[in-house]
Amino acid sequence: MQITIIASGSGGNATLFASRGTRVLVDAGVGPRVLAQCLAAAATAGAPGSTSAGSTSAWTPDAIVITHAHADHVGVAARYNKKHKIPIYASEATARAAHLGDPEGVRVFSPREPFAIGALTFSPRPLPHDAAQVALVVDDGARRAALVTDLGEVPPGLLEHVAGCDVLMLESNYDEEMLDAGPYPQHLKRRILSARGHLSNAQACALLAALPGGTHTVALMHLSENNNRPDLALAAARDALLGKRARLLAAPPRGPLVLDTAPPPGAARAPLAARQLGLFPGM
Ligand SMILES: [Zn+2]
Ligand SMILES: [Zn+2]
Repeated sequence: MQITIIASGSGGNATLFASRGTRVLVDAGVGPRVLAQCLAAAATAGAPGSTSAGSTSAWTPDAIVITHAHADHVGVAARYNKKHKIPIYASEATARAAHLGDPEGVRVFSPREPFAIGALTFSPRPLPHDAAQVALVVDDGARRAALVTDLGEVPPGLLEHVAGCDVLMLESNYDEEMLDAGPYPQHLKRRILSARGHLSNAQACALLAALPGGTHTVALMHLSENNNRPDLALAAARDALLGKRARLLAAPPRGPLVLDTAPPPGAARAPLAARQLGLFPGM
């Protein structure tokens, strides 16, 4: 399974999962043009399994899964649905709270029941956030990847849900000192800090430190551009992962960042040769 992180953060979120002819976009925080540009950049850079983005079919996903009803995730789901006839999957709460376009094109999933789209199986799990939100474990029958963002705290059972995933994409939203000293109004700081807000670097590290073996790549997601710095988040996570053989990356606000769930040939469970495109300098 190949994963292309197209965008990550409050400016928009979108991650493409592709395996055995199935392509599913999780969150629609970017439009078709940006999606096509990102996939073309990934293909030009020689990301394995990427297609050239010269035709519509090169960027069109088979389906879009929306994690929750915030604008940076719902994005332009309605346009993909109405104009491009791409089915949109969402929980009932998300479908009720967000405009996802033509109801005929919306498929509702239960936030605790696995569902399949082509070759991919999605296992959701509710997360504490100020909208009904889910973590997703994506399984293609051979490898598993977890996408966990927009949560105020790590709920019981989440560690078990993501344990053993080849790739873990985990929110590391803010540095507590930067948030405290930063420009946000108090009510917004309180919202971010709350148990239904976002995950701090320290909270992400606590989960990473408890992570059992089997994960060869960790990508830090949804970094705040005001209340965090990639070097701070990476340094903290590096300490938390000490002794574990995992490759560590930080997703940029705009990708592509291409990850493969397979370890390199002949080096099972060794750190992955992930491709890192368009990242922050100095990482
Ligand atoms: Zn978000
Ligand atoms: Zn959110």
